[in-house]
Amino acid sequence: MGPMTEPEKLTPMMQQYFEVKRGLARDTLLLFRLGDFFELFFEDAVAASRILGLTLTHRQDHPMAGLPHHALDTYVGKLLAAGKKVAICDQDEPARPGKLVRRRLTRILSPGTTLAANQLDAARNRYLCAVSVDRKGLHAAWIELTTGEFRAASTDKPGDLLATLASLDPAELLVAEGEVERWGGAPHEDGTLRALHAFAAGRTVTELPAYRFETAPGARTVRETIGVLNLQGFGFAEDHPALGPAGAVVAYATANLCAKPENLRAIREHRSAGTLLLDPATLRNLEVFASTRGGRQGSLLSAMDGTTTSAGARLLERWLAAPTLDLDEVRRRHALVGELVAQPARLAEINAALDGVRDIPRILGRLQNRLRNPRELCGVRDTLGRIPQVRASLGGLGPAAAAVRERIREFPGLLALLAGALADEPPADVAEGNFIRAGHDSELDRLRALMSGNRTWLADLERGEQERTGIRSLKVRYTGNFGYYIEVTKANLHLVPADYVRRQTTVGGERYVTDALRQKEREILHAEENALAREREVLDTLVAAVLGESQALGGAAEALAELDVLAGWAAIARNWDYCRPQVDEGDSLEVTEGRHPVVEQGFRLGESGPGSSQAFVPNDTLLSCDDAQIALITGPNMAGKSTYIRQVALIVLMAQVGSWVPASSCRFGRVDRIFSRVGANDDLSRGNSTFMVEMNETANILNNATDRSLIVLDEIGRGTSTYDGLSIAWAVVEHLHRDPARGPRTLFATHYHELTQLERPLARLRNLSVAVKEWNDEIVFVRRVVAGAADRSYGIQVARLAGLPPAVIDRAKAILARLEGDDSTIALASPQARPKRKITVAPEDTGQLDLL
Ligand code: ADP
Ligand code: MG
Repeated sequence: MGPMTEPEKLTPMMQQYFEVKRGLARDTLLLFRLGDFFELFFEDAVAASRILGLTLTHRQDHPMAGLPHHALDTYVGKLLAAGKKVAICDQDEPARPGKLVRRRLTRILSPGTTLAANQLDAARNRYLCAVSVDRKGLHAAWIELTTGEFRAASTDKPGDLLATLASLDPAELLVAEGEVERWGGAPHEDGTLRALHAFAAGRTVTELPAYRFETAPGARTVRETIGVLNLQGFGFAEDHPALGPAGAVVAYATANLCAKPENLRAIREHRSAGTLLLDPATLRNLEVFASTRGGRQGSLLSAMDGTTTSAGARLLERWLAAPTLDLDEVRRRHALVGELVAQPARLAEINAALDGVRDIPRILGRLQNRLRNPRELCGVRDTLGRIPQVRASLGGLGPAAAAVRERIREFPGLLALLAGALADEPPADVAEGNFIRAGHDSELDRLRALMSGNRTWLADLERGEQERTGIRSLKVRYTGNFGYYIEVTKANLHLVPADYVRRQTTVGGERYVTDALRQKEREILHAEENALAREREVLDTLVAAVLGESQALGGAAEALAELDVLAGWAAIARNWDYCRPQVDEGDSLEVTEGRHPVVEQGFRLGESGPGSSQAFVPNDTLLSCDDAQIALITGPNMAGKSTYIRQVALIVLMAQVGSWVPASSCRFGRVDRIFSRVGANDDLSRGNSTFMVEMNETANILNNATDRSLIVLDEIGRGTSTYDGLSIAWAVVEHLHRDPARGPRTLFATHYHELTQLERPLARLRNLSVAVKEWNDEIVFVRRVVAGAADRSYGIQVARLAGLPPAVIDRAKAILARLEGDDSTIALASPQARPKRKITVAPEDTGQLDLL
């Protein structure tokens, strides 16, 4: 029985239920408040009981499942994690016997619109994103509803925008009805639609009627929500095509909040040209947000995360997802890291002070959107309490620290108000009361005095009645469903006076009331109700005081988050001996003694298994658009090629988000995109990766790279037969070199030894190799990148390292010798007189040649 096939005879309450249910989208579960429980009915009950492990009960043969109201957030979190949307229908008034309670839809929760802290990962941004595509290009808008960030973009270069959207990794995607299916059915040549289809795959997608994406109504919705007369102030013409998706996002958020989102105060245009673009394949290959093993550990993000606050962690994620190309901003960050690196004692003070800073952006988001409780206000109070300390530690460090200090304002008035008003550790639930301190509000104090007066009155009554009746054991008591009463034990019943009215008989005696007690009971309950109501009023004034400063608080919180990220980087820079990079408008890329940030940390922390006690061997790099444009790296398997080329890309990325880098010096001309690709066979993480994917991705590079791009290619051409692969790799290198004067800086690691010949015809190509030493027919990895091509591939020696049986190794050598028809190889394979040495990995200096 489906929820929309309504049983014929409905109770008034179930009529109410279906009224609400009818207004919801099909896939939304309705949680319906019944007393202390939220109940689900019909199919919803079945679905929820499966996800949450609730017991399924029945009501007139219909399935039903309930969850206690105080556990709502936790259960809803689980439903959202399972990809469900959840509508909350709450009671609008206290229940009264014999009367249908008024109920109201209060909120619809979906992965992209939820605000409660325990349904969110504090360290991650959570975007709700709408996209539409037409002949003019790709249009998109996204909001982070928890913090009010709101952006829109429109482009005729869909690939660029999609790269940004993929980096944001939205939790929920809004599209017009039927779009995802249309994208999936698009022909292979339609790169945009195929890419959109891939982008939507695995996400929560919500389909809305197509008219929701129209520009003019969208512009109106956005204007009205932000509360402005026109959007020109934000740089949007009224017919900006991104206003369609922007309207869709806002309308959807409004529908789900059951109110206008109060924290959307501005819309900003996102321009791909302003950020360093990292497409999904590059993010994956460079392990920016997650390692190939999956998960945050082993990623660049985790190696760069020294934050103490959740707002800081989210800012770091945002910076990495869309690194700015504004060099002044980048240098400002480098400078502040530098000022902090120079003063370790202050750095430690700052990190200690930040430890007490709470998640102000999300707290404000919840307060603005009617999720109010005293604990949120305590978060504001505690944070404001830390600011003087943070400011003191930032004093006298230098101009960059002074600038950020300027933005971290103090709020002495607000702090005094909150500190004076709020209890130290108030309950999370408003209904419990006692979150406002005594002495803050005289009316509340008066009501509370009444309550305590009542307690005294009750105590006096008990004593007085004991005296009057002579019953020493007489007690005045209270129970929830019975109210106040006088209890007399069986032995004393004969002493009960005539004015006692008997109410209940118990095992041990009788319970009575008197007129005076009944009268007082009304007063007491009334006083409690009044006190709580007054407390709520006080809370509202405090919320209003905080929201009155929301703009300024938001600004200070942003500066605190920045400081958190940069102080974290300063600590990492000190720990790992990083240097301050120079990013300029030049053509070159020079790194001395560069290291791979993640591998290096893994080494010292001993995470990388056998041999991990060794140190990471630093290597230099020198590239330039107009001279050493392409570095072709050869060398045996396991030599360190992949690590080397990735470390260069990571150093560039780190420098461009504003961090210091693992090197002894680093200078490069601004990079507009990083492309990183791995040949299909190497890309183990994807398992089913095909040659087609590899070629698609390669095509994407050749079509989109500019002279400012950095290209990192690892074993491209692997996914097909040797000759095919070699030919393709060859042609790709030639193509990157086609311009007579300059081209994108490129690192190309390859096992195709033949490619090293390209050094002669291609003036800007340089052969590099990762050196190995030979000891008696065995190779020793020294991890040094040197000029010149590798002399051969050492495949058989590596196979021996891997433990292939000696007989197989010998046979392989013989075959190789025959294939190559080369006598020297046979000589090499002949048994040697000297005793074999054990395999060693020697990082010691082998006299590194000058690179290039
Ligand atoms: P290749 O791509 O040449 O097959 P990899 O880059 O995958 O080699 O590296 C092989 C192993 O060598 C990795 O386990 C890595 O940890 C280690 N390695 C790579 N570069 C260095 C280095 N510079 N210092 C120390 N160890 C390194
Ligand atoms: Mg490799």
